[in-house]
Amino acid sequence: MPIYIESSDRPFIIPAQIKMGHKTLTVRLDEYLTFTENCIGKVNHRTNTIHIQKSTEAWPIPFENQVDSYFHEVLHIALERAEYNELNEDEDFVNRISGFLAQAALSSEGEAGK
Ligand SMILES: [Zn+2]
Repeated sequence: MPIYIESSDRPFIIPAQIKMGHKTLTVRLDEYLTFTENCIGKVNHRTNTIHIQKSTEAWPIPFENQVDSYFHEVLHIALERAEYNELNEDEDFVNRISGFLAQAALSSEGEAGK
């Protein structure tokens, strides 16, 4: 069940680097990921890199889909590091939960406490 994600005037910024557990991960926007891997998000565990398809003229990707893919891969890594292997292999579970996380990020407004 795909989850519709509304656009936001103040979109979430996909970070260039994050820490999960004891590892630092780099996030890269790759021009040819869809062409070479037939997906818009992928994790390379050897290089600790999250690859997201860059939106190009040849492969236009809505920003919402890039953010959705980012959270999808982050959730896979979190489940792997937390040793929830069965959940990590459940793509439907990962899609649903990461879709909600992406929606929360993309719909965020204001600054708490201000
Ligand atoms: Zn997946």
